[in-house]
Amino acid sequence: MTIAFDHSYARDLPGTYLRVDPDRATAPKLLVLNRALAGDLGLSLTDAEAEAWFSGASLPPGADPIAQAYAGHQFGGFSPQLGDGRAHLLGEILAPDGRRFDLQLKGSGKTPFSRGGDGKAAVGPMLREVLISEFMAAMGVPTTRALAVVATGEEVWRETKLPGAVLARTAASHLRVGTFQFFAARGDQAQVKALADYAIARHYPDLAGADQPYLAFLDAVIARQSRLIADWMGLGFIHGVMNTDNMAISGETIDYGPCAFMEGYAPGTVFSSIDHQGRYAYANQPLILGWNLARLAETLIPLLDPEPDRAVEIANDRLTAIAPRYRADWTAVMRRKLGLPGEDPGDGALADDLLTAMDGADWTLTFRRLADPAALRPLIDDVARMDAWLPRWLARAGDGAAQRVAKANPAVIPRNHQVEEALAAATNGDMAPFHALLAAIRQPFSAVEAYMLPAPTGFGPYVTYCGT
Ligand code: AMP
Ligand code: MG
Repeated sequence: MTIAFDHSYARDLPGTYLRVDPDRATAPKLLVLNRALAGDLGLSLTDAEAEAWFSGASLPPGADPIAQAYAGHQFGGFSPQLGDGRAHLLGEILAPDGRRFDLQLKGSGKTPFSRGGDGKAAVGPMLREVLISEFMAAMGVPTTRALAVVATGEEVWRETKLPGAVLARTAASHLRVGTFQFFAARGDQAQVKALADYAIARHYPDLAGADQPYLAFLDAVIARQSRLIADWMGLGFIHGVMNTDNMAISGETIDYGPCAFMEGYAPGTVFSSIDHQGRYAYANQPLILGWNLARLAETLIPLLDPEPDRAVEIANDRLTAIAPRYRADWTAVMRRKLGLPGEDPGDGALADDLLTAMDGADWTLTFRRLADPAALRPLIDDVARMDAWLPRWLARAGDGAAQRVAKANPAVIPRNHQVEEALAAATNGDMAPFHALLAAIRQPFSAVEAYMLPAPTGFGPYVTYCGT
C-alpha cells in the first residue's frame, strides 16, 4: 500500500526541526502490529511493509523524516536543547474520520539532538510502551498509540547487551510544552507565535476566531491537561518523568518511560530510579501539572497582552484557577469510580475519606470490590475505619452502584510483576506472555483472575528507568 503522508509541521514551521533519516535496520523482525489502530488510520499494511517501514529498513514512499527541536525543564532544571534524540517523524496521516496523526519512529538512530545518547531503544522498553499505552487507550485516557514494534536485529548496550527495537507510534501531534520553551528561551517570539497558531489550528480549531486566541489556547491546554492528570490519578498511574518536554499540547499522555501503576495506595509512591526527591511521585502529579503549565504560560506572555505586567496578571489568573479546576476534574473521576449518580457537594470529601480508609490497600482491587465488603475487607488494614465509610458511600451511591462501579473500574491493569515477566520473556525471544498480557489489558473490565492479583510478596521494590 502507499501511505498518503502530509507534512504540515515541516511545511508550516520551518526552523523548528532538522531533516534526518532513520538508521537502516539490517535484520528487522516484526514483533507487534496493532491492526485495529492501523484500521482506524485507514492503513491496510502487510506484515512485510510494517517490518520494513517501522524499523527504518526502508522508508515508506512519501515519508520525509525530521527530528523536532524542543527544550524542557527536567526535574526542575532547564535544558535549552533536547529535541528528538532517538526519534524520527515520518510525516502525518489523515485518518478516514478526518483526524490528523503524527507517525513517528522511536529508537531509530541518532540525530543532531542525540547529545551523548546512542539513538537506540531496546525491545523491552518499546513493548512496555505498547502495554501501557494500549491500556490507557482501552480506558479511554488520551494517549499516543503504538502502531508497531520491530526488532532491529542489532544489539544495544544498557546495563547489559539487549536486543534493539524501533517503536512506531502515532500521536495527535508531538508538540510539547518544551517545544514552546525552545523558542521562547531563544527570544524567538515570531516562532512562538507560529507554533501557537499551528497548535490552535491543529488541536483547538474552534479558538482561531476567539477574541484572545492565545489566552483561549492556554485555557484549553490547561483544561485538557487537568482532565488528563485526573484520569491518571483515577487509575493509579505514575508517569514518572513529567518534565515539560514530556507534556503534550494535545492533552495526550506521551513518553512512556519509567511509568508504572501503583498497587498499594501510598501518595508518595515513586518508581523511577532517578526520582530521588519524589518530584514526580503519585500525589505530586497534580502539583507538577500546575508547575508545567506555568512554564507554558511564560512562553505565551508576549502574546497575551502588549503590556507585560498586564500579561503576567492575566496568566497568573489562569494559573491560580488550575488547582480548583483540577479538584473538580478529580472529583468527577472519583464520582465515576464510586458509581455516584448526579453531583453532591460532599462527593470530594467522600472520596478523600475513602483514600484515608484505604491506607495502603491495593488501589485497583479496592474500587472493584467496593460493593462486596466480604471481598474488600481482607485488603484493608483498618477495617473499622472502612466499615464506617461504606455505609456513607452506600447511602450516597444508591441503587445500581455495584454495576456502575464494575463498569467504571478496571479489573485488569498492567501490573508491574506481569509487565516485567512479559518483557523478560520477550527479550529472550518468547513473545507469548506479552501477547497474552496485551490481550487481557485490552479488555480491562473482563475479570481474568490471573491478571488481577497484586505482585506476590517478594516482588519489588519496583524500580523503573529513563532513556531505555
Ligand atoms: P525522555 O526523558 O525519555 O523523554 O528523553 C529526554 C531527552 O533525551 C529527549 O531529548 C530524548 O530524545 C533524549 N534521549 C533519551 N534516550 C536517548 C537515547 N538513547 N539516545 C539519544 N537521545 C535520547
Ligand atoms: Mg521525552
